Amino acid sequence: MRNNKLLMIPGPIEFDANVLNAMQQKTSSHVAPSFIETFGNCIDMVKKTWLAPKGQVFIVSGSGTLAMDMAASNLVEQGDNVLVISTGYFGERFENILQRYGAKTTILKAEIGNIVSLETIEKELQTKNYKLLTFTHVDTSTGVMVDPKQIAALAQKYNVLSILDGVCSVAGEEIQQENWGIDVVLTASQKAVGVPPGLALLVASEKAMNSFHNRKTLVSNYYADWTNWLPIMKAYEERRPSYFGTPPVNLIVALEVSLKNIISEGIDNRFSRHQKLANAFRSAIASLGLKTIATNNDIAANTLSAIYYPEGIDGAAFCALMSDNGVIVAGGLLPDLKTKYFRVGHMGSTDEQDMIAVLSSIEYALNKLNYEFKLGTSIKKFQEFIYKS
Ligand code: PMP
Repeated sequence: MRNNKLLMIPGPIEFDANVLNAMQQKTSSHVAPSFIETFGNCIDMVKKTWLAPKGQVFIVSGSGTLAMDMAASNLVEQGDNVLVISTGYFGERFENILQRYGAKTTILKAEIGNIVSLETIEKELQTKNYKLLTFTHVDTSTGVMVDPKQIAALAQKYNVLSILDGVCSVAGEEIQQENWGIDVVLTASQKAVGVPPGLALLVASEKAMNSFHNRKTLVSNYYADWTNWLPIMKAYEERRPSYFGTPPVNLIVALEVSLKNIISEGIDNRFSRHQKLANAFRSAIASLGLKTIATNNDIAANTLSAIYYPEGIDGAAFCALMSDNGVIVAGGLLPDLKTKYFRVGHMGSTDEQDMIAVLSSIEYALNKLNYEFKLGTSIKKFQEFIYKS
């Protein structure tokens, strides 16, 4: 039997063949000249992908949660006021992490499927002296997307550091870190960056680095401490050997390939490709009478969609049927709604054919579960959107 099911969850995603092939190369020393060059190239290309030419890059073995941990542990000191803007599960995770490092957090929680208004954020920023704010670009639990440009502008207005959880957005949704003045943009390899899980990636602004250098207390997380990683990143950037913790050599080799793919596509082309596919997919889903958790198109992510099952459809049976039909999607993540919706990732190198396969599989499962609709409806809608616009 062929084992080629399409992995359409919001990370890990389907990876490009040249990225997977790169993973299989013989592992070199982490101080081999060719590896030093590869790591240095990754740092240069991360800056291009993040649109942060002056940013301080950190590439460390770990997942996205480590990138969050790194931002929090290096920038927070005991008693600092931190504002958490939450659009779902991962906003709440950020609050937990920040509290571990002694932050006094205030969390603004959006209603499910919605965002926190700029007025609400601004009003809160006026109430006390915040050191930093965190926000999730795309919350993977809801498929809701916020506007980082406007939130970062507010942070700047009140002289507050801004930290963007871009785990489900970097290299898929538009982010202009330097132009928009975002102090930290962090992500993980397994999503739109297009590399198997295992890398935490983070870019910090000069302002964030100054704040770190001005700390009065030691960073209480040894592994995440930038004091340990800064000399390593500087060395690789200057193409010199160095060591703190052994880097995941094969993943870094794969990262170089994926970042080259991203840059050769063109970052703006990549953003608009994600947008077009997502819009087409949402219109196709709507044509079947299905609804997304995101309450309107302007705040719906382009990297994934969170979709309610129609009334009367058993979610577990639906996902199992999709899998039998060759497409793997993810179930719900929000504890209260877990059984009410599913999630489809559409990021990285996902293309039109993948999305047609997803729609075909959704129709297969709905049809088997006796949902009333005309077969082919969503595929027709998708094709009209893609081929006629
Ligand atoms: N933030 C967001 C928005 C995410 O989607 C995820 C992972 N789904 C994380 C943080 C945590 O990343 P990881 O699972 O790689 O630790």
